[in-house]
Amino acid sequence: MSRVVYVNGRYMPYAKAAVHVEDRGFQFADGIYEVIAILGGRLVDGEGHLQRLERNLDELRIAHPMSRAALLVVLNETIRRNRVQDGSIYLQITRGAARRDFPFPAGIRPSVVAITRAVDMERVAAKAAQGGAAILAPDQRWARCDIKTVALLPAALAKQAAREQGAFEAFLVDRDGFITEGSSSNAWIVTKDGVLVTRDLGLSILSGITRGAILALAEAEGLRVEERRFRPEEVFAAREAFTTSTTAFVMPITSLDGRPIGNAAPGLLATKLRALYAAYAESEARGARSGSGYRTPSGL
Ligand code: PLP
Repeated sequence: MSRVVYVNGRYMPYAKAAVHVEDRGFQFADGIYEVIAILGGRLVDGEGHLQRLERNLDELRIAHPMSRAALLVVLNETIRRNRVQDGSIYLQITRGAARRDFPFPAGIRPSVVAITRAVDMERVAAKAAQGGAAILAPDQRWARCDIKTVALLPAALAKQAAREQGAFEAFLVDRDGFITEGSSSNAWIVTKDGVLVTRDLGLSILSGITRGAILALAEAEGLRVEERRFRPEEVFAAREAFTTSTTAFVMPITSLDGRPIGNAAPGLLATKLRALYAAYAESEARGARSGSGYRTPSGL
């Protein structure tokens, strides 16, 4: 089956799909993106992702290329044409193409690209059953990490450093010595007292759609939750650590910088939250349950 990509109003063969050489996404990283999970051929938390996308467009004053309903039609049609059952769809919107100049060009239309990817969910589940290693890396990103921009070079550098040290994720550390989040995930710990901790929303982390769903599930389970900053020392002393993201759901972290976390195996709470999230995602995609949406960072 040939792959099909949506580009600016057309469904194109993967090998032929292209954007303009002067696209501002290419020259200025002037664009945003979303990655949405697909289960059983349907979007997981589509509404929440599109709420975040719209807020991010507004924050950067990029025009909305189409209504939310029309975007959903494009995403679902791209999924249908690629016959993806389980996987993800990448949606990128840039300010558009124009002769290179820093200020916003007048009269250009945003570029829109959607690309699907099939994923073997059993392989992801098998990885989660093993857990994985993480490293610490300095957070070298800009001051608006609440916006999901395509300026991913600092994240790519941190992820590469992780790979080179046999780890799958980097926990980013801010100038004050606190962990912000993973390079492509939100970071969590479970303290010795059984409290679930993740960084509070603000300018320095992305409000993860998975993070929001996990918080709602944890609250429904009556778990003790704290949204606050934490340092690497707290991770080393924690009972468990894990990450959350659209593509990996809940991924247990068994070591940080080579030091074991808890008993160096996926924790009980991470494993339970992963199972709860998997059931949630499956029923949300089917429309049997409404999504927990996007938590807008307040006071910005
Ligand atoms: N934080 C960062 C920096 C990310 O890149 C991502 C996802 O790619 C996340 C958090 C997790 O967000 P979500 O759960 O919406 O995938």
